[in-house]
Amino acid sequence: MTNPIKKIQVDAPTLQHYIDHLATIGWQPEGGIVRPVYSPAWLKARQQLAEWMRAAGLHVYEDAVGNLFGRLRGLDDTRTILTGSHLDTVKLGGKFDGALGILAGLVALQALHKHLGPPQRSLEVVALCEEENSRFHARYWGTRAILGLIEESQLEALRDEQNISIASAMRAAGLPPDQYRAPIRTDLDAFLELHIEQGRILFDEHIDIGIVQAITGLQHLLITVKGRADHAGTTPMDLRRDALQGAALMAVEITRLVQQEGRPAVVTLGQWDVRPGAVNVVPAEVRFSIDLRHPDAETLQRLSVAIQARCQAIAQERDLQLSSEITGQSAPQQMDPALQALLIRAAGACGATWKAMPSGAGHDSQTMARHLPTAMLFVPSIEGRSHSAAEETPLADAARGATVLATALSQLVYP
Ligand SMILES: [Zn+2]
Repeated sequence: MTNPIKKIQVDAPTLQHYIDHLATIGWQPEGGIVRPVYSPAWLKARQQLAEWMRAAGLHVYEDAVGNLFGRLRGLDDTRTILTGSHLDTVKLGGKFDGALGILAGLVALQALHKHLGPPQRSLEVVALCEEENSRFHARYWGTRAILGLIEESQLEALRDEQNISIASAMRAAGLPPDQYRAPIRTDLDAFLELHIEQGRILFDEHIDIGIVQAITGLQHLLITVKGRADHAGTTPMDLRRDALQGAALMAVEITRLVQQEGRPAVVTLGQWDVRPGAVNVVPAEVRFSIDLRHPDAETLQRLSVAIQARCQAIAQERDLQLSSEITGQSAPQQMDPALQALLIRAAGACGATWKAMPSGAGHDSQTMARHLPTAMLFVPSIEGRSHSAAEETPLADAARGATVLATALSQLVYP
């Protein structure tokens, strides 16, 4: 990888056509896409992708959980470099989240094939079947299948809102759930994922490419504050043990602590339950959720401890009982340093401005990175809008990102 890098330009009009056409599959009259895993829209989108992959001269196949691959066979066909992203969308999602990573990979492979011929190592673009918890709480289902991380019990245990198991949904989509271990891959040397930023840092700073250093770590906590229910008219303020007043003060203090830490620390208190929940009763019990994120494990832990200590102090001052429970967590995941350096060199060769940054959102790459060298690049999202029909990335930015991706891939498979 010491030769000067040659830019591999993708075909922007083709990328535009793919983006626009794929967005029509699952598009709702009110705006936004509904394309949950194993749904008819998901099947149709996959069929369309397979058609495009075949037309591009790729060898097309699917695995048992429904990941779809387009393979550009290398002279050595035993090892593989993988690129791509997820095909499912959140409910009323946009046309770029996930889809752009697949389509950028597809136009990148087309450009590489056209300009450089067959690669040394094989190169594949993948449409991963599930990332968004779009129907089942099966996050990274496709990636986990590839890495052998699916447990048999999950096939029946994971259920959608209609109580349909993921195994039944797979069967209905023509996929064999009992083959859930067949997708395991041992030939993968690296995974590169292009994704929209879903935030507004690149957009605000007019930077072309984000090189992801780490995917953020996350902790979910459920805080329960208990006081005493009393009459709202007859109980003087100084005699109350109002759980909500305490919890509200905690919310202010949690926000202050995380703001003080500065970017990229973020905290969200999105779910509240107040009991008994009557206009004229002093609240006896409040539960609220904390979603705390930071890409550095130590900082994440320090913030979590500080938040819980501050909440405990407020509870004591107000004669309230407090309990906190960690309901979910994922460790921060560093991206591969050599692949980050390669993406930076590729951005340079393409004349693209870039910035190293953490990812505040979870991605398939965080699971891949635990098992094989993985890196991610971001392209700007207008005003940071995402998980919405308003999600937008200008074609110039999308094509530039795909060109940087193609250029980086060329270094991996045409040594
Ligand atoms: Zn995504």
